[in-house]
Amino acid sequence: MSAPAVVRELEAALGADAVIWAPEDLLVYEYDATIDRGSPQAIAFPSSAEDVVAILGVARAHGLPVTPRGGGTGLSGGALAARGGVIIAMNRMRRILELDPGARTALVEPGVVNLDLGNEAARHGLAYAPDPSSQRACTIGGNIAENAGGPHTLALGTTTNHVLAVEFVDPTGEVHWLGGPTRDAPGYDLVGCVVGSEGTLGIVTKALVRLVPAPEAVKTFLGIYDSVRQASSAVGAIVKAGIVPAALEMIDRMTIAAVEPVLKAGFPLDADAILLVEVDGPALQVEAEGEIVEDVLRQYDPREIRTATEPKDREVLWAGRKGAISALGHIKPNYYLLDGVVPRTRLPEVLDTVYRVAAAYELPVANMFHAGDGNLHPCLLFDEREPGVTERVLEAGEEIMRACVDAGGAISGEHGIGLEKRSYLPWIFSEDDLGAMQQLRSAFGADDDFNPCKIFPGGHGCGEGHGGHQQKQIAKFGADVAI
Ligand SMILES: Cc1cc2nc3c(=O)[nH]c(=O)nc-3n(C[C@H](O)[C@H](O)[C@H](O)COP(=O)(O)OP(=O)(O)OC[C@H]3O[C@@H](n4cnc5c(N)ncnc54)[C@H](O)[C@@H]3O)c2cc1C
Repeated sequence: MSAPAVVRELEAALGADAVIWAPEDLLVYEYDATIDRGSPQAIAFPSSAEDVVAILGVARAHGLPVTPRGGGTGLSGGALAARGGVIIAMNRMRRILELDPGARTALVEPGVVNLDLGNEAARHGLAYAPDPSSQRACTIGGNIAENAGGPHTLALGTTTNHVLAVEFVDPTGEVHWLGGPTRDAPGYDLVGCVVGSEGTLGIVTKALVRLVPAPEAVKTFLGIYDSVRQASSAVGAIVKAGIVPAALEMIDRMTIAAVEPVLKAGFPLDADAILLVEVDGPALQVEAEGEIVEDVLRQYDPREIRTATEPKDREVLWAGRKGAISALGHIKPNYYLLDGVVPRTRLPEVLDTVYRVAAAYELPVANMFHAGDGNLHPCLLFDEREPGVTERVLEAGEEIMRACVDAGGAISGEHGIGLEKRSYLPWIFSEDDLGAMQQLRSAFGADDDFNPCKIFPGGHGCGEGHGGHQQKQIAKFGADVAI
């Protein structure tokens, strides 16, 4: 089969090895880590901002949509080619261009994998704070687009607090630098607009990010509880006691059952819930805060409290938490991971609702989440081969999202709206709000062909459907991300 004109033009601009279009090569790009699916016509791999500009030009000339993509670990369908066209895969732009320990900054390309930046920073006694559980595969560009959080962003804040400036190609093909080397650069906070815009305002081609000093001391507590209520009540109490831990995560019985046989983190199989609480900073502060944390954990009648201070012991605990989603594949072959956020104090009642809804729909549910942020991740487990189960999963998911909103929360804590939840957006925004956001998008020069069908309900050729799932295809463990 001879290459179509768009492919020939992309190859002429970027080189033949920077474009793929054979159907079997495209298959892997039909997925991210959620349950939607989209089929691109070609994948282009830029090596520079100029390459990105060239790709935009070729795609526009052929009237094709474009969609930026990083590691493909997104959990809201943001990197999917919802209306086909060209995926701009940023994975070859993966250099750490400069790391300045004095200024505590790093200048990176967007395809740098999050953990690679963390490891490089560690060599200088520094850390890159946002650490999504997908950090072995997700990229800094994807993190910026989704304003990614992670277990350790409770005290230091999500990605938006750690990006100083970006080189950015707008949808019309103009290259800009937004922001600057110092915090609070003068003028409108355009970096703030780009972070969390889910790849709908343009394409990040470089980022200047902040690094923080690695803490002098770290102490991790494992609080083991016989009920989810006890554990979730302890979460609010820790913060009420005046402590904002570095991390405050919760894992329930179903998750422990999946994690323990595979990752051997030492989580007791018969516990209903465990809390992972980490305090870090100067040694004296860690000692003082640690005493308060332990005291609060005890007030909620734990079966046991363990502590870990040695890096190797803490790593085992965190491997259990960060590998949890992948481990769930040992229970069922498919998952639908939800992302809602509620006020921390409402966690106990919303978790009750999560278990009640899952039981009503006869679906196993596993919970592992950033409890300190009130950021829930109920994970509905199923086998797509069972007739009718996908519909049940989607309905249960919608009910759980409703419960988050009814509790004063929102429909995304960190994974974004993407393709997945765009039809829920009117639950939390008025027509006027949505109109204002669309105007911002237009001001950046985005039209219907730039990362189409994301965030906003409706849209030319986007369809609707339940929860925005116009293509009900199911993510499979192991097939989507190598975590
Ligand atoms: C096992 C697992 C655990 C996870 N844990 C967390 C967690 O703890 N915290 C969290 O926040 N998320 C988590 N996620 C979700 C996901 O990893 C994050 O949203 C991550 O930021 C996505 O990065 P990516 O490189 O994979 O982006 P992709 O999935 O490739 O893309 C995500 C979005 O970013 C856009 N994009 C990508 N690159 C660029 C660029 N250069 N310029 C502009 N737009 C771009 C895409 O268009 C898309 O809209 C998890 C996912 C998995 C599978």
